[in-house]
Amino acid sequence: MFPTSSAGKSPMNGEKGFGKDTPSDRTINQARSILVLRVTFANRTSRTSGLSFSEPDWVSCTLGVFLCQGCSLIHRSIPHISRLKSIQQDSWETEEVQFITSVGNAVANAKYEQSVPPFYYRPTHSDCRVLREQWVRAKYERQEFMYIEKQEPYSAGYREGFLWKRGRDNGQFLSRRFILSEREGALKYFNKQDAREPKAVMRIETLNATFQPAKIGNPCGLQITYLKDNSTRNIFVYHEDSKEMVDWFNAIRAARFHYHQVAFPGASDTDLIPKLTRSFMKEGYMEKTGPKHTEGFKKRWFTMDDRRLMYFKDPLDAYARGEVFIGSKENSYKVLPGLPPSTQGYHWQHGITIVTPDRKFLFACETEAEQKDWIAAFQRVVNRPMHPQEYAVEAHFKHKP
Ligand SMILES: [Zn+2]
Repeated sequence: MFPTSSAGKSPMNGEKGFGKDTPSDRTINQARSILVLRVTFANRTSRTSGLSFSEPDWVSCTLGVFLCQGCSLIHRSIPHISRLKSIQQDSWETEEVQFITSVGNAVANAKYEQSVPPFYYRPTHSDCRVLREQWVRAKYERQEFMYIEKQEPYSAGYREGFLWKRGRDNGQFLSRRFILSEREGALKYFNKQDAREPKAVMRIETLNATFQPAKIGNPCGLQITYLKDNSTRNIFVYHEDSKEMVDWFNAIRAARFHYHQVAFPGASDTDLIPKLTRSFMKEGYMEKTGPKHTEGFKKRWFTMDDRRLMYFKDPLDAYARGEVFIGSKENSYKVLPGLPPSTQGYHWQHGITIVTPDRKFLFACETEAEQKDWIAAFQRVVNRPMHPQEYAVEAHFKHKP
């Protein structure tokens, strides 16, 4: 805080052109600078735009914006767009403080975010590095949201190119040609470069994409899911160039946005944006047993995608071994900690029972923390009333062989 003990010691304080600042003057100026910067931050930061945060540690002196610790690391890695200073630790020149107070995040965003397409994914602090870094580069380095013509790679309604796709049999990544066409309503890929027939046609209607760098083992790893005959299929892809991968991701979001605009005329952008892509609610290993509850429990990889609980032998399998629909409590779905007393054959000690109108599903988690997390994820969907469309999905699950 202000070093009041030394303030006012010298009658020369505050007088311009009279010798050099004393060390205590510099301390006062520094403290004032910090205060001015903090007040500017509080007044000039829009909480609704992009990467919002509460207390800044850093300032980009070149852009005139405040940055949290996480974002400062990204800016630091792109030195030609940002020169960083710590608000608290660095010393400040009056001109720098003046520049920053004249800009601030809201003014900078009005310039650099003047035309962000509604479907464009705005990352949060919990998103993967590639998404956060490409947002910063798109905004400040390439200035894509100032010049609409730079948005063509994801806004054109058509995108074609090569991605590395994980092969089903041996897990090797192979170069495959992909075409996304809004006109055809599909994302397709081709096994051979000159192939006429696509290996898969993924309808935009059921398409989802989510970055999964850890699971895929590549910083740009993207999991694409779609429904075929009402069952979930996965493909795993990456591109060496982060911009290319994020452009694909936003092109998929654009296609889904335009699809939904047609399917739900009159719906607002705010209603449609959450429907474009979704992250999984939870993933991880649990043990499960079969419908008779007499078989030994087997360890499986589970993915909770909205109301679909899917299980796989391997996290990178193309097909789920099974899918369980989890409805709402109004429709007799229940999540209980523990297993029925007679249950046998499990190794992990932390049980979960999911009660559906048809049967009970028994799971076991390795740790209590995992059990709690899974129960919380299940509880979130059980507590949410079902939409009319979800009754149709539930009906399909019931009639599955
Ligand atoms: Zn941040």
